[in-house]
Amino acid sequence: MTDDIFSPALAELEEKGLLRHAVAFEECDGRTVTRNGKRYLLFCSNDYLGLSHDRRVKDAVKEAVERYGFGSGGSRLISGTRPPHEMLESGLKDFLGASAAILFNSGYCANSGIIPAIAGKGDAILADRLNHASLVDGCLLSRAEFLRYPHRDMKGLEKLLLKTSSAKNRWIITDGLFSMDGDIAPLDEICGLARTHDARVYVDDAHAFGVLGEGGRGTPALFGVEGGIDLLVGTLGKAAGGMGAFATGSASTIDFLLNRTRSFIFSTAMPPAVAAGNLKAVEILAGCREERKEFLGITSSFHTELKKLDIAMSAESYIMPVVVGGSKESLDAAKAFWDEGVYLQAVRPPAVPEGTARLRLTLSMAQRGEDRIVVLNAMKKIIRR
Ligand code: PMP
Repeated sequence: MTDDIFSPALAELEEKGLLRHAVAFEECDGRTVTRNGKRYLLFCSNDYLGLSHDRRVKDAVKEAVERYGFGSGGSRLISGTRPPHEMLESGLKDFLGASAAILFNSGYCANSGIIPAIAGKGDAILADRLNHASLVDGCLLSRAEFLRYPHRDMKGLEKLLLKTSSAKNRWIITDGLFSMDGDIAPLDEICGLARTHDARVYVDDAHAFGVLGEGGRGTPALFGVEGGIDLLVGTLGKAAGGMGAFATGSASTIDFLLNRTRSFIFSTAMPPAVAAGNLKAVEILAGCREERKEFLGITSSFHTELKKLDIAMSAESYIMPVVVGGSKESLDAAKAFWDEGVYLQAVRPPAVPEGTARLRLTLSMAQRGEDRIVVLNAMKKIIRR
């Protein structure tokens, strides 16, 4: 019945190289994946520290399933809260040295729910143009004036601050480590501008939480501006290896979010065992100073190798976009890597701007040195040919 509505749109996506499919792996051990019986090295996950298959995390999940069952049976404010949820919130607060923390079921739920709660009519949001889609959607859902500045352009941000001086509250919203570009927001300058112009700062640190900055406390710690961030969102599906998200801030900010964020109030709480697995992962993150150091060393050596290959890279991190340009070309490039036994995915619009389709290569502690050599050899063949 709906074929006549949706078929033309799907055909158009296919024609433009923008049609998407969910790829199921028969097996995944963090380092490799198996697809149609063939094994590939995995170089596009966000499991940066390899915790998704950590024995200690798996045991914590198993134990919690036995104790609490599977589902939570309700939203956090009705009947869904168990000790692991509260322990995880407390653990995250301590890990980040924050006053309070609140859990969400995903980073998408956090951003799309929090922003409409904190900003409304009469307020203004000033956002980096390359912010993650979940931030963009939160901004669109809020009824605040929504203005975007060019990527990491502080002059552009200042212009918007001057333009919106009559707004009631102003929020500067940015990714900490940009998800598709692997570069970092200049939080020192952003916090300086916020102070001068009396604006608030909201950082989505999904990709830096647990890895960057002193103690893995993310990009605010990297710049030494933790006190200048009003709201920090982090996710648990990346370096923590699990799933879910959280926000930290002052006690009253978090209490306000608990009372006003619709994606928190009107959604079933994450299974207690997921919270328990996340808690174990956060405990591990608190103690893995050496692993973080080693990972950042591996990242820096990999950048050096890419430079030797003349592969241009504006990224400063373990997220390394290899920009191909056209969408169809990016699909072809991904397939060429599969032929070399390396699993990468093409990232295409609207996840990235038109004409900048790319392979988003990511490093992980689950990978081995020999895996990285395979990837560099494949790069030589595919990207430089
Ligand atoms: N923020 C950023 C910067 C992200 O990259 C992502 C996911 N890739 C999210 C939020 C959404 O997080 P989640 O996957 O937990 O919904």
